[in-house]
Amino acid sequence: MILNRFRLDGRVALVTGGTRGIGLAIACAFLEAGAHVLVGGRKLSAESERALRDASGAFEFLPGVIEEIDAPERLVNETIARAGRLDILVNNAGIAIHGDSGDYPDESWRRIMNINVDAVFRGCRAALAPMRRQRGGAILNIGSISGIVSNIPQNQVAYNSSKAAVHMMTKSLASELAAENIRVNAIAPGYIETDMSRGGIENPECFPIWRSMTPMGRVGRPDEVATAALFPCSDAASYVTGEVLVVDGGYTTR
Ligand code: NAD
Repeated sequence: MILNRFRLDGRVALVTGGTRGIGLAIACAFLEAGAHVLVGGRKLSAESERALRDASGAFEFLPGVIEEIDAPERLVNETIARAGRLDILVNNAGIAIHGDSGDYPDESWRRIMNINVDAVFRGCRAALAPMRRQRGGAILNIGSISGIVSNIPQNQVAYNSSKAAVHMMTKSLASELAAENIRVNAIAPGYIETDMSRGGIENPECFPIWRSMTPMGRVGRPDEVATAALFPCSDAASYVTGEVLVVDGGYTTR
């Protein structure tokens, strides 16, 4: 059955920032697909906990911030301690801080790079030892259309640069690790309705521009990214590595 290749039964997945938004939707999708899911994040609301339980309940919450230098490795080690292995790592935690470049603060630049780039690399690096022991694994990094085009009207030089780095990191690692059966892919979502994008969606000077520049004429839902995340993390994508899968309602076609 070809559909069975999309299943994740017996797999252990770690999803950073899995407590809400896109990460939560990915965690729920993986639970539905049969995986044991370790959910990293700052805090787990009762509503998010309910969604995870409804999806299957085979999850554990690993609280903590991702920007501390040893945090990604701690998450990987904790996953091994609790579940015995690591088959799938989803580097999803990320932030955006908009601002004009002329007076963009150093501390905002550093914070974005630390969370969106450095922590993603540290997570990938930490996952290599267990994945090598297991002779394979799948890593999925969450990039953005902002790593491909400079979307408007908001100015977000640091965010755009960070996501371009995530895409290139993905390709470099994919090339380096392919012979070891460790596949590394990324997803580049367009505008997705989450806490991160809420400010723009509710802004009457911003949202009409977002919508008119999106051929499908709407923002996406987190579950529409989660279905795309399932593919590269499953055996259905056994010959796919180094890919940046765009999920954007057509935004980058124009
Ligand atoms: P969100 O703000 O709703 O969720 C972000 C998640 O990351 C949360 O679980 C949060 O707790 C976690 N996180 C953030 N900073 C953290 C930190 N310092 N330590 C630990 N956890 C931290 O955002 P989202 O829209 O779900 O974004 C998820 C990913 O998708 C991000 O990488 C984002 O850049 C990317 N993305 C989002 C959109 C969009 O329109 N929403 C578009 C393209 C890409």
